Amino acid sequence: MIKKVLVANRGEIAVRIVRSCREMGIRSVAVYSDADRTSMHVRYADEAYRLGPAPSSESYLNIDKIISIAKKSKADAIHPGYGFLSENTDFANRILQAGLIFIGPSAEAITAMGDKMTARSLMKKAGVTIVPGTDELPEADEDIKKLAREIGYPVMLKASAGGGGKGMRLVKSEEDLIPSLLRAKSEARTAFGNEAVYMEKYLLEPHHIEFQIMADNHGHVVHLFERECSVQRRHQKVVEETPSPFITPELRAAMAEQAIAAAKSVNYSGAGTVEFLVDKDRNFYFLEMNTRLQVEHPITERVTGIDIVKAQIKVANNEPLEMSQNEIIQRGHAIEARIYAEDPVNNFNPSPGLIRHITEPLGLGVRTDGYVYEGFEIPMYYDPLISKLIVWAPTRADAIERMKRALYEYKITGVKTNISFVQSIMQAQPFVDGNYNTHFIDDHIDELT
Ligand code: ADP
Repeated sequence: MIKKVLVANRGEIAVRIVRSCREMGIRSVAVYSDADRTSMHVRYADEAYRLGPAPSSESYLNIDKIISIAKKSKADAIHPGYGFLSENTDFANRILQAGLIFIGPSAEAITAMGDKMTARSLMKKAGVTIVPGTDELPEADEDIKKLAREIGYPVMLKASAGGGGKGMRLVKSEEDLIPSLLRAKSEARTAFGNEAVYMEKYLLEPHHIEFQIMADNHGHVVHLFERECSVQRRHQKVVEETPSPFITPELRAAMAEQAIAAAKSVNYSGAGTVEFLVDKDRNFYFLEMNTRLQVEHPITERVTGIDIVKAQIKVANNEPLEMSQNEIIQRGHAIEARIYAEDPVNNFNPSPGLIRHITEPLGLGVRTDGYVYEGFEIPMYYDPLISKLIVWAPTRADAIERMKRALYEYKITGVKTNISFVQSIMQAQPFVDGNYNTHFIDDHIDELT
């Protein structure tokens, strides 16, 4: 039985995990860098240990140090959160070798899904529809060009090891193909230490729609429905909602079935997310699987009533899933906005610094997952996410009004934030109509900023 969990992360997600631990009567151990000494995750955990200097490479990515703290504090499990070491096979293996429990899937599942090319071929075998494209690219330029013509322009070059919206390159015509490929490879080598690049059809006006999966170690896999994540900037999500205003009940059922098949094909365990692109004719294609807790998991919690972090811990404890598929229902509508310390009018540059004043929204149907407070200094070393604002209401229209009200109440001074930008999104006609795709922000950037 897990009695003590070390949370190998920082910021809002570390606070989020510590909260579920406390409610389960499980002790929590925080780790922190010098820049996070006074962070809320340090205050809320039962114990806290210093990892090292601020840069991630010397703190939140230091596997040796994290494992030695886990041993010293007698933690029996490690929760990786998202980002940092959450999809690092070496980390998962080292935890197991140390005789500890990794709160996540097997190292094999992480490896299989962590490499986009490997995941594509596995999914194809499992009968999951993947985005039309190539496996490994051939050597000769002419062969590569021929493949691109078969797929049809525009095509997208993708780093197999890419992630976080990085390592993608759009190619509109044949004359750009080979030069773009050379650049994509060298960028992939620098950014991910792996120059493998493949080619995919570039889908026009797609939706990014993903399914939350929960699986236990006894062969049960369920889905917790979808999240519509098409409000993106630079391939990164800004606003997410569930249910998706775009998909039909038939499409939802078909996508859910494939999401479950994807998870089963890698003997998945714990919480995971199967991402799809859906084109304007409502054809859907597997994009990738994220083998960890997702930033946007709270909207799913809100409509299903399931605490995903608690469910992860129970699965790691070898307990069978508590819910069967027909007991899981989507009730009402939830929207999440990612609140960042950034300057929307100045190219969305990060705006770290001292929080002089903060008033977080409260009231019916409002949840904020954050980690800062008045007097806290948002470090410049990490992602500038301040909090996630999640609202719920019985209908989509009511949820949008509630989000607008909550954003109106949200006051932060000291750092620049994207609060007014998100407020503009809530008022933009395509969003209000539920008629938007992944190009929505780019297409309306002048009105939104
Ligand atoms: P990452 O792993 O970096 O997050 P993904 O493969 O999940 O990358 O893609 C992120 C986003 O990029 C998608 O949500 C979508 O907006 C865009 N995208 C990726 N592949 C395609 C494609 N083949 N066609 C059109 N858009 C794409």
